[in-house]
Amino acid sequence: MKLQIHRFIFNPFQENTYVLYDESKEAVIVDAGCSDEQEGEALSGFIQKHQLKPVAQILTHGHIDHVMGVNFVWEQYGLKPKAHADVVPFLENATEQAQMFGVKTGKLVMPERFLEEGDQVKFGKSVLEVLHTPGHAAGHLCFVSHSNNFVLSGDVLFRGSIGRTDLPTCDYDLLEESIRTKLYTLPEDFVVYPGHGPETSIGIEMKSNPFVMG
Ligand SMILES: [Zn+2]
Ligand SMILES: [Zn+2]
Repeated sequence: MKLQIHRFIFNPFQENTYVLYDESKEAVIVDAGCSDEQEGEALSGFIQKHQLKPVAQILTHGHIDHVMGVNFVWEQYGLKPKAHADVVPFLENATEQAQMFGVKTGKLVMPERFLEEGDQVKFGKSVLEVLHTPGHAAGHLCFVSHSNNFVLSGDVLFRGSIGRTDLPTCDYDLLEESIRTKLYTLPEDFVVYPGHGPETSIGIEMKSNPFVMG
């Protein structure tokens, strides 16, 4: 089953929000980062135009740039987020997080279900496998499609870079371990869709990423 993947670039942090869907038209929204009316309309407009039915919203992690649109998706489609349990403190402190980075957000809706390593997110005829990849933030998850050869890497791995490790709950050694044991063990042709910036592949990063070589 061919999975379609659409990227939006939202909010002042240029965060990638993804909508995944297959022929069944069921869709998953990943890291809803829409931060104002215009961005919300871009997301809901796309969903309407393609006649999609969102059935889940999932989070790679709880940093403010990845969760600013969580309430929008909840209100629009009745979907509370699914995330790792360690994401809860980030959501509870979203208002303070936002202030720290000079943006605004209200109280955010809490996850309806927790995800862990090895769990599956199912929609339509498609499946995403959950990887637990801490280091950039506690409770960070990556989502893999083994049938469509890609991974959503959140803020763990970028094209030519890796996630920050200077924020609370960051741990450089843990991040490196997550990349080596969870991402660099995927096939080299797997496309990497990161939380910021353009896509890349596992093979390209293993050969050329200056921070963590494979
Ligand atoms: Zn982050
Ligand atoms: Zn981010």
